[in-house]
This record gives sequence, structure tokens and C-alpha cells, in this order.
Amino acid sequence: MNMPHRSLDRRSDLVLDTHELARRPGAMKLVRTSVAAPTELGIAVIGVPPGSVVQLDLRLESVVEGVLVTGTAIGPIRGECVRCLGAIVDRVEIDVQELFVYPDSEATEDEASRLDGDLIDLEPLLRDAIVLELPFQPLCAPDCAGLCADCGVNLNDQPEHTHEIPPDPRWAALRRLEGGDRQTYDVASNFHNR
Ligand SMILES: [Zn+2]
Ligand SMILES: [Zn+2]
Repeated sequence: MNMPHRSLDRRSDLVLDTHELARRPGAMKLVRTSVAAPTELGIAVIGVPPGSVVQLDLRLESVVEGVLVTGTAIGPIRGECVRCLGAIVDRVEIDVQELFVYPDSEATEDEASRLDGDLIDLEPLLRDAIVLELPFQPLCAPDCAGLCADCGVNLNDQPEHTHEIPPDPRWAALRRLEGGDRQTYDVASNFHNR
């Protein structure tokens, strides 16, 4: 999908200025900072809560085509277990590696992100990386027992939970029949034993 071009907001925590690196291949800058997570950093059932602290530990390197960004982003994740609906509280660490090419580069959008003037926007990068990292079917524990299909009780809390199976009248009738047959047989065998 092609997003309409918008100019980047310098005040955004996730927009970094690279002017001291631009067009100086070999120049390098370390960025260690804490930023507030933007909205929708994740999927519906699990993600980084908006406004929570994400730690960035990045290395910005000037290369011939642009600026190469490598490093890690670490943040809290909150979600809901798809089996028992219990809360999931965890952390996610993602590896970041992206080349931001100069605006006049021939590279296509599939190949690289693009610098906007001297600015790079980490937000789309983080969003893609985090979505890839998160499970689509998050579980509170790999062996989560889930909820009872009949009454919704959490089976992690009550592993012994069962329901009395109500007798099905058709089975009861069959059992009576079987019982009747056995009785007949018993009578017959008793007869032969005599
Ligand atoms: Zn669960
Ligand atoms: Zn139940």
C-alpha cells in the first residue's frame, strides 16, 4: 500500500536527525534513548501499550547510499491469552536493521526506506518488526489449559474440574437391553450347569 507522503514531525521521538552523518560515508553515531511507544505497535490481541517506554539502542552509520540503522528496541508487551483470556505481561526485544537511502537514490521502496531530507522515521520499521515478532495466537503459558467449554471455568485454576455427564435416555434403554440379554444368558448357563 502506498501511503500518501507526509512530512516527518521532528518532535516525534521516533524521528531521528542524521544531518551530521549525511554524505559522510564512515561517519557513525550511537543513539541510546527511551521513547514513548506510538499507538498500534502490535496486533489486536497483543502489543506494546501506547505511551509505554521503549528503549532504543541504535547505531547509525553513514554509507554511500544513505544511512544504515542497526540495533535493538526493547519494550513491554501486554496481551490476552487466546485460550483462557488471562493477561499476558512480557517484554519484547527486536533487532532493527534498515538502510535509509538518500531521497535521490534509485533504490525502490521495497529495497529500502528513504530519508526525508536529513530525517529518518523509525516508526514503520518498529511496527513491522514488532508485528513479525509477536505471536498471532498468544498464550499465557505454552500448556495453558484454557476454559471449560461448558461453563467457562478457568481450567488452569481448577485442573480437576469436570461435569457429571447427564445420562442420555437412549443409552439407558440400550443398557437395559444389554442387561436383559446377559440375564437370559446367565439363566441359560445356569441351566446347563445343572
Ligand atoms: Zn491462558
Ligand atoms: Zn465446566
